[in-house]
Amino acid sequence: MPEHRTVQTMCPMNCHPTLCGMKAEVADDALVSITGDPDNPDSAGFLCMRGNAAHQIVGNPERLLTPLIRTGPGAENWRKAGWDEALDLIADRMRDVGPKAVGFWQGHGNAANDYGVGVKRRQTERFTNLYGCQHWDPAMICWGLGGFGLGLTGALETSTKEDMGAQSDMVVLWGANTVSQANTIKHVEKAKRRGARIVVIDVRRTEASALADKVLLVKPGSDTALALAMMHVIVQDGLVDQAFVAAHTLGYDDLVPHLDQYTPDWAAQRTGLSPDQITAFARAYAQTRPAMIVMGGSSLHKGDNTWQAARAISCLPALTGNYGRTGGGIGPRHGARSHGAGFADISAPDRRPPGPYVPNQIEAIAEALETRQVQVMMALGSNMLSSFPDTNRLREALADDAVLVVSYDIFMNQTAREVADVILPGTIWLEEIGAKATNTHVYLSDLALAPAGETKPLYDVYRGLATRLGIADVYPWPNQEAAIDAVLDHPATGHATVADMRKNGGRAALNISHVAYPTFDFDTPSGKVELLSARAESMGLDALPSCASDTDTALPLAFAHGRTFAHFHSFYDHARALPALAAREPAPQLWLAPADAAARQIADGDAIVLTSQHGSFPALAKVTRRMPQGAVWMHDGWAGLNALMDGASVLPEAALTAFAFSVGQPHFGAHVEVARA
Ligand code: SF4
Repeated sequence: MPEHRTVQTMCPMNCHPTLCGMKAEVADDALVSITGDPDNPDSAGFLCMRGNAAHQIVGNPERLLTPLIRTGPGAENWRKAGWDEALDLIADRMRDVGPKAVGFWQGHGNAANDYGVGVKRRQTERFTNLYGCQHWDPAMICWGLGGFGLGLTGALETSTKEDMGAQSDMVVLWGANTVSQANTIKHVEKAKRRGARIVVIDVRRTEASALADKVLLVKPGSDTALALAMMHVIVQDGLVDQAFVAAHTLGYDDLVPHLDQYTPDWAAQRTGLSPDQITAFARAYAQTRPAMIVMGGSSLHKGDNTWQAARAISCLPALTGNYGRTGGGIGPRHGARSHGAGFADISAPDRRPPGPYVPNQIEAIAEALETRQVQVMMALGSNMLSSFPDTNRLREALADDAVLVVSYDIFMNQTAREVADVILPGTIWLEEIGAKATNTHVYLSDLALAPAGETKPLYDVYRGLATRLGIADVYPWPNQEAAIDAVLDHPATGHATVADMRKNGGRAALNISHVAYPTFDFDTPSGKVELLSARAESMGLDALPSCASDTDTALPLAFAHGRTFAHFHSFYDHARALPALAAREPAPQLWLAPADAAARQIADGDAIVLTSQHGSFPALAKVTRRMPQGAVWMHDGWAGLNALMDGASVLPEAALTAFAFSVGQPHFGAHVEVARA
């Protein structure tokens, strides 16, 4: 009789704050099935199409199972190698160029069983701190884009979805969508059943629009203008919560005259909404309390100076007295934590030797590669060419023979095929022990299967490199379970351990407040919500929330990108390696409005080419009334798509170290023209 086990695990995708629980049925070290965990308090048994496709990772013929070393240019020129040969090659090169010429970039792939807790993430940082090499924080291409604006205001904590479902009378899904916050949406529905008003603001009619009482379609990159005009209306109409403003904000008297310029007429031209729509929504938001704003994680901020959107949006709950109030404030957001959440830091930041270090800025990394300041690039669970903007420039830099590119992953991807010199095969989430955290719980992602082929977890790569390079104390734990215990050893978890979680259905509740900023002690130097930020001014930025003009408007169509149910960025070789996802979206589709299509003689399904000032990209046309005129949209993560975008920095270097997270913001936006192929 085969031995049957049920293993508590988590979906390997990182839709955070949505993370879904799974149960893996295993018989004789073979996966039998994966189902949603009905006892998981966050997901309650739910798995979306991506989660349901996750079983196709196991035993997949496309898995990388042995180290590979490139034998020549082109996607197919590889030879198999042993781990010793591959690690010797990398360590020799690292020794030759020295730590400061070695760069580490870890992506979502390294967080498949780690998101929110960050054991493996901190282990990577520990290696780079003890070795003294370059290490960049991937938040700079993700939630850090908006985090900077929120941080200036002092609104980094988020209230929970449970608080929203139970208490909010209005929920504003601002660039936030069902496909990336699936578990939040259940609580939006709960709020709606109680009578709460649901408003969706986005660049297209998203899946979440079906829930909405009102949908406001805005031009990509115009969210800042909408938020500023809303503030204008709220002030002009006397809808400001003066008691809250007096007690808990800084700079209101400077803000009021500054808002004069941001009229609804001014914002109408930028957003594509009418002045009446803007005025009506501003009044409805200010007059409905408590009202919670749920902001998108990164797509909302992937444009031109779009950190300013987060800055302006985060001032709205302050003017209306929604912060620190149950059902109000800012709701669940990718990468953000609840009040009280935290984990122990094992990354040894105090042992990092002095620099020079290349700043957390995409342009600076590209330049460091171009000038050969960095000559070894470790891409760990990351598809850099698919996640950086202006990737033609990056590809050229990484393709330089003087730069050794190492890709650690579970499948091939654009970066591995086009520029890697060495490929290291990684274990999948079921072949390691890990832990993930939502805003309310930490969950065990337990070991279920033996590693396939010659795959290894990333911490074995560090241990192998550390031995070769003579770096001490890189992995001071007897095993990975002990490393997880070290990170969980924090008051927020009640000092939980893996053993405790195993006894408790694979989870531990976090000691958090469901309401953000319950003590009105905000994340700013003044401890107040900073409508006027001296910190911003000291960095050479506007002290008050403001709106930069769009710099890239030579071409007529504003390009935006985001997520669908059939992909998670470029995971699993751009979703091509999982048949269920590849079949659902076999080719890139560009959404465009009927009027824009007709003006270009483009019919639904036509082969087209998008062209920006930086590159071009082929796709199929999806002509749809769900898209407003003047804007086009596509799901992100397609190989080659980011060649369209401009990677110029939009934040000065002085801003990059303002917060504990990385904030370097490149320009991810593009204006494009579209023509039949
Ligand atoms: S929403 Fe889907 S992809 Fe995201 S964590 Fe849940 S099951 Fe996984």
